[in-house]
Amino acid sequence: MRFVLVGPPGSGKGTQAERLVSEFGLSYIGTGVLLRDAIARGTDTGKHVEPLLKQGLLAPDPLVNGVVAELFSGPGRPMCFVMDGYPRTRSQAVAFDSLLHQQRLPLDAVINLTIPDDEVVKRIGGRRCCPNPRCGACYNINHLPPATEGTCDRCGTALILRDDDKEETIRRRLEEFHKNTDSLLSHYRSQKLVRDVSATDPVDVIFDNIIAAVRGNR
Ligand code: AMP
Repeated sequence: MRFVLVGPPGSGKGTQAERLVSEFGLSYIGTGVLLRDAIARGTDTGKHVEPLLKQGLLAPDPLVNGVVAELFSGPGRPMCFVMDGYPRTRSQAVAFDSLLHQQRLPLDAVINLTIPDDEVVKRIGGRRCCPNPRCGACYNINHLPPATEGTCDRCGTALILRDDDKEETIRRRLEEFHKNTDSLLSHYRSQKLVRDVSATDPVDVIFDNIIAAVRGNR
């Protein structure tokens, strides 16, 4: 199975991606995680994107397309996957279509997680992520807390409120999201791939609705 997850920051995309990974044995491909890893490793890509991420702005399409294309090159390329945060623009979707076409890996569905902006702003204040580049797990103190307050369940690192999760940044990220997502979704709607799922329900209900939508039950 091959999915793209679309949703604003705070819609629970990362959480649902993780569940899809464990339910279907998929590879997880999160461009936010990949870019933050590049920053942590101090690569040229990392140096280029660091100020953009800090301001809540998107990295340039050719750069992100290159990062994803590299992942799909070579013998260890993912065959079944969930994309978290890519493609984010119509131009990225066009580049990804052509990459997947070359690789003969057609998408099964684009899951569009829907949530009002005000709800996003409320939720995001509770988000805490693991700064360990080899982990990157995210929690929410309101609805998905770690077992021990302030500590990552997976690797024990102290959790942080990321710069790009701060309120001023989140408002800019929402603006960017709306600016790009209409044309992204209409691109995929024309391919009849989009499944709209409300992201305001409890995590388990959202997951069940995603599965039902993917299987064509709703
Ligand atoms: P995320 O963890 O998916 O919310 O991504 C964090 C940040 O990484 C975003 O605010 C962007 O600055 C950058 N980013 C992640 N994915 C992309 C993408 N597909 N295109 C451009 N920038 C991206």
